[in-house]
Amino acid sequence: MIEVSNISKQVSTTEGTLNILHEINLSLASGESLAIVGPSGSGKSTLLGILAGLDLPTAGSVSLNGEDITAMDEEGRATVRAGHVGFVFQSFHLLPGLTALENVALPLELQGDKDALKTAAYYLKRVGLEHRTTHYPRQLSGGEQQRVAVARAFACRPTILFADEPTGNLDTGTGEKINDLLFDLNKEEGTTLVLVTHEHNLAARCGQRLVLAAGRQVDQTAPKKKAVVKKTVAKRAAVKKASVKKTVIPKAKVKAKTRAKPKTVAKAKAKPKATPKPKAAPKPTAAPKSKAQGSKR
Ligand code: ADP
Ligand code: MG
Repeated sequence: MIEVSNISKQVSTTEGTLNILHEINLSLASGESLAIVGPSGSGKSTLLGILAGLDLPTAGSVSLNGEDITAMDEEGRATVRAGHVGFVFQSFHLLPGLTALENVALPLELQGDKDALKTAAYYLKRVGLEHRTTHYPRQLSGGEQQRVAVARAFACRPTILFADEPTGNLDTGTGEKINDLLFDLNKEEGTTLVLVTHEHNLAARCGQRLVLAAGRQVDQTAPKKKAVVKKTVAKRAAVKKASVKKTVIPKAKVKAKTRAKPKTVAKAKAKPKATPKPKAAPKPTAAPKSKAQGSKR
């Protein structure tokens, strides 16, 4: 869950104070998805960095899963990041001297996870790269490298995944596959997803959309899917009721139909089944500013 209240960001430059973000507000429930869109330079990456606890706003607050990360010191934020946050970047950020398997396992190993390699192998399989585990990043295509980065991010079991233009360096077809993967894993693992993107169809797949222009929030759409589902269910119920009246169905059948309705609604609202995972504790972020990312073995 993410709660953002009146975030502003200013930086001092030689030419004076630069206002990068102005009073941004948003609220995202656990398991939901948000697209941050807007032209280049509008403040998307700055906002993402602040939401992920990599940067601090000048004013306002950010809560991740109920914890106000803007009131914490760097150590506190690092702990929250390690426990909750995953990151996928446009330029993959894989370590060239490590194989695909080692890249995914590294953040887990740094946290002392004895099952790191097993977990890494599971997530590489999940992104369709089980046959490339011993390959180095230079031996992989852009799309494959990004799949390794996605596996690394999800292997850490983040409750919130941040992705900054994750398909910006990929061709359309490969990008689509990465997007499918992000949304599949988002559903399976119940991960909250925050994406910066230029792609309209990717933004359209997110439950919420925040549009930035010159650091200002110019539009924020609420989740449309849920509203549509509710409307459709209500509509169906109304149609059913009307047809029941018209066709004069025997009482017993009407009762059965009426009883069936809540079941349908409950099914629609039911959470997707969790995928079986190998045993491992929640692990650190793959964020570049963390020690985990910077370290080499
Ligand atoms: P986007 O991701 O939407 O392209 P950014 O968040 O990277 O935009 O940057 C927004 C604006 O803030 C840009 O004009 C950028 O140059 C400026 N900016 C970001 N960080 C700094 C900084 N530390 N110092 C000065 N200017 C910055
Ligand atoms: Mg950016």
